[in-house]
Amino acid sequence: TSTTPSAFARDAYPYLRSNAERTYLDSAATSQRPDAVLEAEDVFARTQYAAVHRGSSMATGEATWAFEGARETIAGFVGAGDREIVFTENATDALNVIALGLSDAATFGAPDLAFGPGDEIVITEAEHHANLIPWQRLARRTGATLRVVPVDESGLWTIDDLTAVVTERTRLIAFAHVSNVTGYIAPVADVVQVARQAGALTVLDACQSAPHLSLDLGALGVDFAAFSSHKMLGPTGVGALYGRAELLDQLPPARTGGSTITTVTLQDAEFLPSPQRFEAGTQPVTQAVGFGAAAAYLSAIGMDRVRAHEAEMAGLLVDAVRAVPGTRLFGPPAGAERAGLVSFVVDGVHSHDVGQFLDDRGITVRTGHHCAQPLHRRLGVAATTRASAYVYTTADDVARFGAALAEVRAFFGADR
Ligand code: PMP
Repeated sequence: TSTTPSAFARDAYPYLRSNAERTYLDSAATSQRPDAVLEAEDVFARTQYAAVHRGSSMATGEATWAFEGARETIAGFVGAGDREIVFTENATDALNVIALGLSDAATFGAPDLAFGPGDEIVITEAEHHANLIPWQRLARRTGATLRVVPVDESGLWTIDDLTAVVTERTRLIAFAHVSNVTGYIAPVADVVQVARQAGALTVLDACQSAPHLSLDLGALGVDFAAFSSHKMLGPTGVGALYGRAELLDQLPPARTGGSTITTVTLQDAEFLPSPQRFEAGTQPVTQAVGFGAAAAYLSAIGMDRVRAHEAEMAGLLVDAVRAVPGTRLFGPPAGAERAGLVSFVVDGVHSHDVGQFLDDRGITVRTGHHCAQPLHRRLGVAATTRASAYVYTTADDVARFGAALAEVRAFFGADR
């Protein structure tokens, strides 16, 4: 099937067609795939699937062409060079590959990337655990110190808050482009400028931005980034690590083995440049092809149109929550820019009960700490309910969500 702007129509998505009575508002957790992506995976699996890279057969050549073609499409989609996109399992894996690689730099002959006592790693209080725990680990392994940009009672931070934490000892700043809890969109270019002045590397968690807004990593000037296929209309099992080519060529590979090397002796190994040095073992080739098809699909819609649609959905979601008395919404104030998601609590009703109530009415949302426990601790709540939109979300979906939410407090007797 050709890619058409009807991507905005629920019709293009088999899951939404098969679950016509369900309102799917959990795209920040994972997205539904359009026919075009499922068909690209299917055609490849049925007619082109073979081992890639190794071997000189025609079958390998065709499969490699599709695999590398996917890499090229994804690279183009985020403003990267082909050698700057490494296939990983997901964004979590990509962030671990960066942190583990850096923790090995001293013994790997990459002294410029080595961390040690006195060095500082800066993160924000709003990070997803995937962009927190790998840095805790790097700090513990190298003796470096983790420093935290605090957020306010809405979960927000500013460039001034970040600047106040950065010192001349800062070696790395890791932060989410878009928060999966608050929908806050970080001032990436400003952070890069602060980092460069301090001589620090930047790591962008682009998990919630690559799917939803026009992203040019090269122009933004970040050093590393991570994102997942399954949040951007593609399959699970594959994600991407972005790095500037000269950094990736120095970064020690976190995983070693077949396909990563030039020469191996019994005592040692020499590694290929990026991306091969990181892609150890047999790769998720079919998933990578689906990932490429998803990037192509989003490109064909146009990321400015995707963002415009989601900005509209964000406005409707904010209005829907604010219309219900006794709700507390986190993130940017009404009217301010935010990604297409809302996290909130309902006074007197546990978030899991809110989620269950909505689910009983066919509305799929996410409840819990959304892999951001420190942020929820700061917000003073154990859990929130999150509703998140994507290209296929309609005003009708949000209206149904709003109508059900309006009944929650009465149902649980919280309005008495
Ligand atoms: N960072 C953010 C901001 C996320 O929202 C997520 C997914 N919830 C991740 C990282 C991790 O993504 P994945 O589970 O695909 O590795």
